[in-house]
Amino acid sequence: MQKKDYRKRNDNRIIIAFLLIIIMTLLIVVLALRQEDESKKVAFVFHSTILDYYPIESPFKESVSPDDVYGVPVHQQIIDANPDTRPMTKRIIKYLVIHETDNFAAGVGAKNHANYLSYNNTSTNSWHYTVDDHEIYHHIPDDEVAHHAGDKEGNMYGIGIELCVNRDGNFNKTFDNAAKLVAYLIKAYDLDIDAIKVHRDFNGKDCPHKILASNRLDEFKDKVKSYVNT
Ligand SMILES: [Zn+2]
Repeated sequence: MQKKDYRKRNDNRIIIAFLLIIIMTLLIVVLALRQEDESKKVAFVFHSTILDYYPIESPFKESVSPDDVYGVPVHQQIIDANPDTRPMTKRIIKYLVIHETDNFAAGVGAKNHANYLSYNNTSTNSWHYTVDDHEIYHHIPDDEVAHHAGDKEGNMYGIGIELCVNRDGNFNKTFDNAAKLVAYLIKAYDLDIDAIKVHRDFNGKDCPHKILASNRLDEFKDKVKSYVNT
């Protein structure tokens, strides 16, 4: 009788151990499947982002990262991924959107704006290039969305280019350097002169203020054309 009880207890232990193994295995399988599902979800979102903005007539082009444009140095100081400023959303390029920083403080050139975007930006604003009278900084790859136009269309398809207006800078030189950058980008992405837009075109903001107030947009486009043709 005692021996039988002992065997019965032993049998029960084996059954419990067996059940535990089955439960553990099921748990591992469920967790593994869920993980696979998550990775599928991410891949799908990323893929659909490209598909949504991938018309056949405008193939996706990867961002350039030049060292210089027509002799003007371009520094690559690409900012970290960030849901507000650099969401890493891939897109095609349709527009080159001209802005001015409206920051007239002395010494606030392209490098200061690059450092601001890299280390001190607490807003959701972001753009691709800043140009001053002697150099250019590249902040976000051209094939990614940035938040500069105050408008979905402008942000989704535009390369944001900020011209510095620091009072100790030579604005005519900045204007010329920006025309060189725009000419370079027009060639790099097979765009035409009509791709040049201003911030005002998208949300009505008085930007780029100096260029618009002095009616210099056509002069800017002519300058770009002359560099494209050289
Ligand atoms: Zn602007």
